[in-house]
Amino acid sequence: MPVQVLGNELTHLFTSVLIVRNHLWHHRDLSGKFAAIRSKVESASLPDWGRIESAALVTGPAAVLNISTDIDRQLDWLCAETPDYLLTHPSNLRSLLHRARQKAVSIPSLRELSTFGEMLPADLRDLAREVWNLPVTDVYSSEEFGNIALQCPVHDENYHIQAENLLVEIVDDSGTPCAPGEIGRVLVSTLHNFTMPLLRYEIGDYALAGEACKCGRGLPVIRRIAGRRRNMLRLPDGRSHWPSFPYEEFTPIADFRQIQIIQHQIQDIEVRLAGPAFLSRETEKLFSAKLCELLHGQFTVRYSYPELIEPSAGGKFEDFLSLVADSS
Ligand SMILES: [Zn+2]
Repeated sequence: MPVQVLGNELTHLFTSVLIVRNHLWHHRDLSGKFAAIRSKVESASLPDWGRIESAALVTGPAAVLNISTDIDRQLDWLCAETPDYLLTHPSNLRSLLHRARQKAVSIPSLRELSTFGEMLPADLRDLAREVWNLPVTDVYSSEEFGNIALQCPVHDENYHIQAENLLVEIVDDSGTPCAPGEIGRVLVSTLHNFTMPLLRYEIGDYALAGEACKCGRGLPVIRRIAGRRRNMLRLPDGRSHWPSFPYEEFTPIADFRQIQIIQHQIQDIEVRLAGPAFLSRETEKLFSAKLCELLHGQFTVRYSYPELIEPSAGGKFEDFLSLVADSS
C-alpha cells in the first residue's frame, strides 16, 4: 500500500542536505548543465538544478524530460540539450545506451551518468563505459525517505547509509542483524521526523550488509541492494536467490530491446521480449538453455513478444518478477 509520509522543515532540511552532499561527494561541477529523464515531470528547461540545490548553491541550468518519451526522441533531446550530467532510471539508461550504440550516437558534453529508483544491474556500469566511456553513480532512495544511501565516491560497490538522518538495519527472517556478507530485510527509522515518525519501517527491499569502507567514511555500508521479495527466484529444491542475467550474455544469441522474466509457477517461466523480431524455435532453445544456466535451475521456458514492456506503477521497471507465493 502506498504510504504518504508527512514531514516538516527539519526533515526537508535533511533531505536537502543529503541531495547537496551527493553532488559534493561526486565533485560535480555545479556550473554545468543537469539533465533528468524521469517520471512525474513535465518536459521543461529550467534556470537551475532545482529548488533544493539553488537554495544552497549557485548552479547552472537544467532540463527535464518525461521518461515515457520514445527512446530515439530522448537521444535527440540529449544531443540538442548537451548536458554535463544525466539522471535517469537504470532501465531507461540501458535503453539509451543500446540505442546509442546501434546508431553510433555520442554526447561528448556528458561527464557522468546518475541512476536512481531501481536496482542498478551489475553489468550497466560496464555498458556505460563501453558505449559512452562514462561512470555511473547510483543512489539508494525511496519516496518515503529520500536518499537512504549514497554510492561511495571512492569505492563504486559500496553505498554509505546516511546515518545522520536514518537508522538503517539489515535483519534476517528472525529479526537478527545480518553480518557483513549476509542479505536481509531493510528496516528504516527516521531520526528527525517528529511529525510522522517511522520506526523500523520495512521498506520491502533486501540488501547485502557490507563491511566498513576503506575510503575512511564512518557511515555504515550497504554492499548491494538485492531488490524486493517479488524479485527473488524460487528454485524447485526450495532455495531462492535474486537472479542476475546480464543482457550481454544474451546478445550473441538474440537481438531485443527489452526483456522481462516472469516466474508464474515454480518451474514455469515466461520470457517477455520486446522486438525488433521474434526468435525462431531454434534460437528460443538456445536462449532457454542460457537462461536456465544463469538462473541455476531447470525450468520450462515459454516466450511472448510484446511490442513494449511497460514499467509498473511508479515508473519502475522490474526485469524479474516471481508470482510464486511463499510457502513459509
Ligand atoms: Zn566509502
